[in-house]
Amino acid sequence: MATSDGGKGRPVLVIGGPPTTNGDLHVGHVAGPYVAADVWSRYQRALGRDVVFASGGDDSQTYVTTTAARLGTSPTELITKSWSQIKSTFEAMGIAVDGFAPTDDDYRSTVYDYVNRLHALGKFRLRTVRLPYSEAHGTYLVEGLVGGDCPTCLADSRGGICEACGHWIDFDGLLDPWNLLDPSDEVTYREAEILVFPLEEYRERLIAFHEEKASTWRPHLVSLMRELLSKPLPDYPITYPVAWGLPAPFPETPGQTINAWTEGMPASMYCNHYGRLQQGHRPPTTDDAWRAEHDAELVFFVGFDNLFIWALVHVAELMAHEGRYVLPSTILTNEFYELENEKFSTSKGHLVWARDLVADVPRDVARFYLNLSAPEHARTNFSQAVLDKVAGERLVEPWNELGTTLAKLAVDGEPLPVPPGTQARIAAMISRFRHCFELDSFSLSRAADLVVQHTARLRADAQLALTAEPDALPMRAGDLFLQTRALITCVSPILVDVAAQLAGNGEFEPRISAEAFDVTHTTAFTVPGLSLRTAGADRPADPAVPTSIV
Ligand SMILES: [Zn+2]
Repeated sequence: MATSDGGKGRPVLVIGGPPTTNGDLHVGHVAGPYVAADVWSRYQRALGRDVVFASGGDDSQTYVTTTAARLGTSPTELITKSWSQIKSTFEAMGIAVDGFAPTDDDYRSTVYDYVNRLHALGKFRLRTVRLPYSEAHGTYLVEGLVGGDCPTCLADSRGGICEACGHWIDFDGLLDPWNLLDPSDEVTYREAEILVFPLEEYRERLIAFHEEKASTWRPHLVSLMRELLSKPLPDYPITYPVAWGLPAPFPETPGQTINAWTEGMPASMYCNHYGRLQQGHRPPTTDDAWRAEHDAELVFFVGFDNLFIWALVHVAELMAHEGRYVLPSTILTNEFYELENEKFSTSKGHLVWARDLVADVPRDVARFYLNLSAPEHARTNFSQAVLDKVAGERLVEPWNELGTTLAKLAVDGEPLPVPPGTQARIAAMISRFRHCFELDSFSLSRAADLVVQHTARLRADAQLALTAEPDALPMRAGDLFLQTRALITCVSPILVDVAAQLAGNGEFEPRISAEAFDVTHTTAFTVPGLSLRTAGADRPADPAVPTSIV
């Protein structure tokens, strides 16, 4: 089977869009980009590829300041707490981010190198724009500081991107703007001179880029890009005349800050670099892995609502570096995930923290359900009752029955002969899993469904084998143990603790490849059991920080 790089062994750079450090991650956050990026990264490693999965904290977003004001804390304290919470939540969920980088001096110099290079290449323009303004507070209102109605879809929105329709909202585009930090404030408009990145100059190249990808990328992304690219693109703000953010280094815009979204690409480069350092590499520069000469496979996992930035602005910025950097091979997008058929809402308290979910439910079972219900093409729903029913009936019960039945068939220490026909079944099973994990046909929901299908099939075969004639039993057992071993290998990107437990026992083949199972004999092993609830785990009263359980 062809792998996503055509077998060329290109290094793999996986980016999960950096979460804003204005709180911990709830289940809706992790069910979209991060579980998917983790499963795909684990799959790539199981093919033997060189992978760095990176993400980081997006500290410069104005949402940090509005959340801090709502909570009565300082932005700096909120960032420090949120960064640690997000990092430990990733660990608790088994989302194995290699490069969750701190926002340190090397981070900042990577951002400045990136924007200064674009500035030196003459890619920015000085423009006078009209922005919402608070006369009472003497502040411009942009991004998360200003609310109003989206001029495209009329949904309640903030400045910048509309999360309902995914369109960009131009500087003074919000209808009936209001001040998030002071809702009674009267909002007016003032002009400001800022630096912008003229996206329109890249439209033809962006159209060519996206049309080349259109047959394999998810349809919602393709239709949004065609809609956005069918008319002139806006000037995207590189600087804002607001206080929160990294100070802009450009002589034309004294006192301004860099638009937080602009940090996205250099932040991703730095997080990737940090991940490579953790893996023992010593890259010469923080952007080394992204240099075009390395021809890396660059994959973004981001929510639909951020595609304007990730699929247009960031791609155009990389193009504007005039051949220095690789462009993304794939942008894998997700839709919204709801809780009990309502939007997740931190401010309304309608949420389940991801760390609380995996305190109650073993994370393999939680990951199985999040995969099965993944919001791949439309919004989907988390429900604790459905998790209990579906994961209980389709995974936990049949899985444990398979394990207990195989235990009755086990013949300790004796090599078990593998009959003709087993290899073909294993090859078929692996082929279907790989189809679900390859990016052109990526579907975690179908992958989780395959787990259900093969667990039920092997359980039924194992129960039949109990009635086999004694002299036929070793071969039946050899067939079943090897197929079960192959199944566990196929599900290892999802059921990470089952795989880790067998790896610890030396019972696990880490390569998702039919050749790895081309053997004449195998041995019995104990299938690790699953459970719907963590043993003795009442939900911890303190929502903070479990120690790492990776
Ligand atoms: Zn909208």
